Amino acid sequence: MKYNPSKTLSDALRQVQTECVECGLCQIECRFLQEYGSPKQIADGFDLLKEAHRTMAYACSLCHLCTAVCPKGLNPAAMFLEMRRAAVKYGLGPYPQHKRILDYELRGVSRRYTWYGLPAGCETVFFPGCTFTGTRPETTLAFYRYLKQYIPSAGIILDCCAKPSHDLGRQQRFQALFNEMKGFLIENGVKKVIVACPNCHQIFKQYAGEIAVATAYEFMANDGIPTRREHPEAVTVHDPCALRFEAPVQLAVRQLLKKQGLTVQEMRHHGRNTLCCGEGGSAGCLAPELSEQWGILRKKEGNGRRTFTYCAGCVSNMRRRMPTGHLLDLMFEPEKALKGRNRVLGAPLTYLARLWVKKRLKREVHATVIRERNLSR
Ligand code: SF4
Ligand code: SF4
Repeated sequence: MKYNPSKTLSDALRQVQTECVECGLCQIECRFLQEYGSPKQIADGFDLLKEAHRTMAYACSLCHLCTAVCPKGLNPAAMFLEMRRAAVKYGLGPYPQHKRILDYELRGVSRRYTWYGLPAGCETVFFPGCTFTGTRPETTLAFYRYLKQYIPSAGIILDCCAKPSHDLGRQQRFQALFNEMKGFLIENGVKKVIVACPNCHQIFKQYAGEIAVATAYEFMANDGIPTRREHPEAVTVHDPCALRFEAPVQLAVRQLLKKQGLTVQEMRHHGRNTLCCGEGGSAGCLAPELSEQWGILRKKEGNGRRTFTYCAGCVSNMRRRMPTGHLLDLMFEPEKALKGRNRVLGAPLTYLARLWVKKRLKREVHATVIRERNLSR
């Protein structure tokens, strides 16, 4: 398609152009904006014909902190996502540096790694997500078994929500992948999806329409494991940026920590104003130094305290720098989690783990509807 800058201008971009007052609040929080200018400056000067603008939006973490702090109610993050979509539309993005994450998605939707098991009367399914299943195969099964105690007809789906395509601006590919899954779920009577991953939550909430989405953390806080134990140290919480606007989830997480007898000392940036761990938007593929900055800030605010979060991707990224654990590890193996001794797998073992979970589920789930899907092309 021939590039036409004025046609590339989207609603989000035009809104920033006309309504941003350049108050600087978002720039104070974000190194990416400090480097490239205020959202208005970026919107006014945006031109895909400029070399620097072709990749610029891929350096934004899509973390929405700018959106959270904007007094004018603007959404610069949405503008950067639209800039990525424009780059894809004109055959520029995604870039070779994104191959690894796109290959990850490709495997996630392949026949080898997908598995749907829906028992008779299944209306609720657990959707653990690729990263959670791969890094924590035993905890994946533990949560599903726990869920079945309350909802015996609960099913399980091993599949990818296609967030990598979504965030890299491949909207057509994303919609093809997600809508096929959504259609299958609706056709088979699924009304609710329970997720472990904040990114899956974001995708289901935005695109799943009539299918409701909830987190494993809300489910446990309501039906919960009322274990009380004493732990002398205070812990802190890293709220994943994909759930920054989900106050009920953040509350459920703190309730679960309290039920474990833990005291939470909040970091300066938490809840709605949380920081990205550095993984967001695959920004590290093209701008590793900017994405590193988020991790460095998080470490500083963590101040050496044991940190619990509820995103497997955040844990993997943050534990390089600071003592970080996953909330579901804490729920099912509290003693180990408090000492940071849970078994967390890394690639390539994560792929074997996903196959192991699939094999176990095939034996364990009395499913009347089963499928593997193959959308790897
Ligand atoms: S989404 Fe995050 S990284 Fe991107 S501009 Fe906003 S605050 Fe900065
Ligand atoms: S916070 Fe909002 S109004 Fe202020 S500079 Fe950022 S986008 Fe513009």
